[in-house]
Amino acid sequence: MTTLAELLAQKTREGALYDRLPDGRLRCYACGHCCPLPDGAIGVCKVRFNQDGRLLVPWGYVGGVQCDPIEKKPFFHAHPGALAYSFGMLGCDLHCGYCQNWVTSQALRDPQAVAPPIAMSPEALVGDALGLGARVIVSTYNEPLITSEWAVAVFKEAKGAGLLTGYVSNGNGTPQVLEYLRPWVDLYKVDLKSFNDRHYRELGGRLEPILDTIRRLHAMGFWVEIVTLLIPGFNDSRDEVSRLTSFIAGVSPDIPWHVTAFHGDYRMTGPPNTTPEMLLAAADIGRTQGLRYIYAGNLPGQVGALEDTHCAACGELLVARYGYLIREYRLTPEGHCPACAASVPGRWGERFEGQIASRPFGRGSRLSMVNL
Ligand code: SF4
Repeated sequence: MTTLAELLAQKTREGALYDRLPDGRLRCYACGHCCPLPDGAIGVCKVRFNQDGRLLVPWGYVGGVQCDPIEKKPFFHAHPGALAYSFGMLGCDLHCGYCQNWVTSQALRDPQAVAPPIAMSPEALVGDALGLGARVIVSTYNEPLITSEWAVAVFKEAKGAGLLTGYVSNGNGTPQVLEYLRPWVDLYKVDLKSFNDRHYRELGGRLEPILDTIRRLHAMGFWVEIVTLLIPGFNDSRDEVSRLTSFIAGVSPDIPWHVTAFHGDYRMTGPPNTTPEMLLAAADIGRTQGLRYIYAGNLPGQVGALEDTHCAACGELLVARYGYLIREYRLTPEGHCPACAASVPGRWGERFEGQIASRPFGRGSRLSMVNL
């Protein structure tokens, strides 16, 4: 019987993000691991490998497609209400015990994670996104950095059709992959999971490449929003939250920070669920450190004004939300506050164009997907 790894090895083509080294080795730059790969070796992500001195990378399939409100990604300062057509491949460079997308991200590591690849073309994905009225197309569900060549192929098609593009990523990048993505990616969400290198090593990464990626993304002009899933006992100490938010504010106090509630998932079922009070306390710390746009997520209706966007200059309500639902939109066509005319950082449309969906919905058979 053909294994999933063998199946995926057939859905590949030569990648762009690598250098050739002596003796047939090569070095991949798609993520912060920068794997040196002898001939025949496979990377930490388990989806990129050296075959006869060429780096083969995932191509021509998706692990899943879903239509999400853009608020779910979450982007709160980019076209509120837009439909974000979201696709993922398989595999990840980290192995977080609480991953909410483990069926796709850990498909090559965990025999319980069964996510059959579905043959797909960039044209089919973009055509489906347009047909549904999506404004944005997003690479998500697995770690998009490790499948960047495919994402760029889809995004070239998408940009030609007038769509915005986005990454929902763990941020374990390299200067090379960010340069490669810069022409094709508009919005970039980074999951800053902790400010403790030891914790990152438990998840299979290191803190420094992620901090470096955040600095570079902002300097290079991507629209960046950052999420931290607040896990009681793991990353919620006052000291850690202070250092984490101080770092973000040091890059830019205008970067929106979403602090979201944990609930037991996958292999991490020990810690208690995050309470609204915990989110409010973390938000207070972030505000003290200078962040201007802080949002509390995953607990709709329980976190007061922390679902809404307010003007950082005068406090005026700009966007009111309940979960992913836009209840009110008050920015000017120029993206300014209607009360004091302060410019609000983000990527805004000329007007609020309504919301096709405030809940995710699946695609399934309408895409004519073909299981490989
Ligand atoms: S994407 Fe990352 S983990 Fe995968 S081969 Fe490249 S450097 Fe290694």
